[in-house]
Amino acid sequence: MAQKGKEENQSVSRVAIYPGSFDPITYGHIDIVERSLEIFDTVIVAIAYDTSKNALFTVKERMETVKAVFAHVPNVVVDSFKGLLVHYVENTNAKVIIRGLRATSDFEYEFHMASMNRSLNPHLDTVFMMTSKDYFFVSSRTIKEVASLGGAVEGLVPGLVAKRLRQKFRLPVTKKKALGWDD
Ligand code: ADP
Repeated sequence: MAQKGKEENQSVSRVAIYPGSFDPITYGHIDIVERSLEIFDTVIVAIAYDTSKNALFTVKERMETVKAVFAHVPNVVVDSFKGLLVHYVENTNAKVIIRGLRATSDFEYEFHMASMNRSLNPHLDTVFMMTSKDYFFVSSRTIKEVASLGGAVEGLVPGLVAKRLRQKFRLPVTKKKALGWDD
């Protein structure tokens, strides 16, 4: 009986949702997605419309960027959602939410959100992934701050994202030249 259950489970596709702002996507996010694909068959990167953060990129722009980044990975699906995450997840075949943890400061917020989501839907679990040592200091917020002041973010975000950041902040041509940012 237990064996039959195991066989049945093996044929079930394991789908996880990775929600966030992704404003913009960084190598920290990409690392979490790649590692999640070792555990789950499909990862849905779900871009939230409703967050308390002031967005630099529109959701459409973020969707385009994330799609381009994972264009070569068939088991990554890119989507967006409005309203409560649990309502969105209920309309998919996912049972798991993935979140990344960079520092103890992330923990309290994430712990409360995971507990709230589980209280709203007891069938839903959150899986936390520890950041990689190369990306523990990388957040979309700091990437935007650095880029807005002309700092180089290459190595922390894909080239496409670095380019879009330069376009958004429209740094003067002279400054771009000095930084070696000529396209
Ligand atoms: P941010 O906090 O950078 O604005 P998001 O709101 O898009 O990013 O975060 C989505 C999820 O990705 C969150 O669980 C966040 O903790 C996680 N995350 C973001 N950056 C990293 C990173 N460098 N390493 C691990 N997890 C990360």
